[in-house]
Parts: sequence; structure tokens; C-alpha cells
Amino acid sequence: MTKTFKSKIVIALGGNALGNNLKEQMVAVKTTAKAIVDLIEEGHEVLIVHGNGPQVGVINNAMTEYAHSTDSDPTPLSVCVAMSQAYIGYDIQNALHEEFLNRNLEVPPIATVVTQIRVDENDKAFENPSKPIGKFMGKDEALAAAGSRGWIVKEDAGRGYRRVVASPAPKEIVELSAIKSMADDGQVVICCGGGGIPVISKGKHLAGVPAVIDKDAAAALLAKNVGADTLIILTAVEKVAIGYGTENEKWLDKLSTKEALKYADDGEFAPGSMLPKVLAAVDFASSGENKTAMITLLEKAKDAINGKTGTKIVD
Ligand code: ADP
Ligand code: MG
Repeated sequence: MTKTFKSKIVIALGGNALGNNLKEQMVAVKTTAKAIVDLIEEGHEVLIVHGNGPQVGVINNAMTEYAHSTDSDPTPLSVCVAMSQAYIGYDIQNALHEEFLNRNLEVPPIATVVTQIRVDENDKAFENPSKPIGKFMGKDEALAAAGSRGWIVKEDAGRGYRRVVASPAPKEIVELSAIKSMADDGQVVICCGGGGIPVISKGKHLAGVPAVIDKDAAAALLAKNVGADTLIILTAVEKVAIGYGTENEKWLDKLSTKEALKYADDGEFAPGSMLPKVLAAVDFASSGENKTAMITLLEKAKDAINGKTGTKIVD
């Protein structure tokens, strides 16, 4: 049975929605659940995508230590991403359940879909891996790991060496039809966590690749694929700025996709943080009629949907 909703919203949750460690995550998900239930309570269909940087880092480090101490095969990064999706999904499911009960609302079905996303093995990103993951290493350890594990390692801003992986563009959400039918049925779906598990087609087999897909790019693809009305990227700032951090800083209420691309070209948005969000917003907003992307603070999700704050990106 298909339920009817006020609108369909894909929410992308950033680092501050989950915290940096186990304890922080337990606290942070409570605020995150409030922001999400606010939208569900208003009658919107909601799909949730989240980042996984700190979590996948911890899992990856632990599995690397384990392989080291037991002289066993290292766990592939793709498996670490799958583990992080399940762990984070568990915490979000749990926090949502509690928030519905706190509001004396009926608890809807809530589920996490472990999601694979196909990438192009010829993606240019594979030629220049740039995303640092896992622990910091000294030079000797880094070079040894590069030799024995085939890792690509790079010096990271004077803080030591880290493994770097590629961040290819997401092409196809493998579990899309499962996600769609669950969401349209009124289930709250958590999916594409950490940008999805990157896979490439090898004949009939989908093979995991050591890469990290940007979660904002994955959220934009999901929003396009499920026919969402709104993509809302929830992060640590209430609005997008030009002249960010300078005396000419100007916070923006609205941006056209054209203006956004021009500012992006001018270098207004930092590459590892705001740029991927703005590009994801432009990708979604330019994908059809009446598609709105928003960037705002986690706590302001409801206000942004109701036009009271945030930066709105439209075509
Ligand atoms: P998330 O974990 O939500 O993905 P990021 O830290 O990656 O968050 O990106 C959000 C951050 O981007 C903000 O906290 C802010 O410090 C930074 N930022 C960089 N450029 C801008 C800009 N032009 N306007 C607003 N924030 C910006
Ligand atoms: Mg980020």
C-alpha cells in the first residue's frame, strides 16, 4: 500500500550529527532524531543518508591491527564501510524509535538498508587518490604498508602519513528498488551510509573497491532516483557564505545553480567541506522542475523546510 505524504525529502547528515566517537555518537543521535522526527511529524516522507568518516576510520584501524597481530588477511575497506552502515544505522534506528515514543507517536517501521553503489572503474578519481583514511603513520610504517598491502600513502599536512583512497562519483544505487518501495510504503529508511559501499561490475559479480564516495554526492543521486522534492544537507553551519571567514563574509538565503557554480569556480567553497555540498545541491536542483536543495544546521531542519532559514539552492 502506498501512503501519501506532503513531500519527499532526502536528508544528508554530516559529521556533527553523529559525533567523533562512541560516546559522542550516543548523545548526538538524540538531537539528530529530533530533527528527523520533526519532518516526519509534519507529514513528509523521509530518507536518511549519513557520513561515516570517524566510524569507518575506527573500524578500519581496528581491523588493520587485528590482521597485523594475527598475521591474517586485512579486511577490505568495502567491508569496513558495510560494518559502519550497520553500526550507524543501528544507533539512528534506536534513537528514532525513542523519539517517536517521547512524542507519544506511533513508531513507524524504521530500517537500515546496507547499500552498494556502483562506480565507474575508469573514473578519473582513481588516478589521483586524495581522500585520507585511517590512522596516522610514521614514514617507515607508511612505506612498509604501501609495500605489503599495496596502499597508496601520502603525507597529510605535516601531521604524518596516511593511506589515501579515491573518491569516485556514484553511478548507480544497487539496492534502489528496495529502498524506494520501503520508503513509499511509509517506512523510515536509512541508506547509502558513508556514501554507499563502492562496487564495480566484474561480470555477474559486484566487487568492492577501496574508495570512499562523497556522502553528499550519494545523497543527491538518491534524491534524483527516488523523485524527491527536496534534498536537505544538514551540517555545522546555518547557511552557506561567500567570503567565508573574511571580513566580507556574506551569508546567503538563496542561490541559483548558476550563481553557485560561479562562486564554486571563484573558490568560495572549501574543497573538502562546503564544495561537495554545493555541487551536490546544484546536481539535484538542476535535475528537474521544482527541485529544491537546502543547506543548513542540523537543529534548523524544520525551520529550513518551512522557509525560515538555511540556504536554498534552486535552478
Ligand atoms: P559535514 O561533516 O557536515 O560534511 P564539513 O565539515 O565537511 O561538514 O563541511 C561543513 C563546513 O564547511 C562548515 O562547518 C564550514 O566550516 C565549512 N565551510 C567552508 N566553506 C564554507 C562557506 N563558503 N560557507 C559556509 N561554510 C563553509
Ligand atoms: Mg564533510
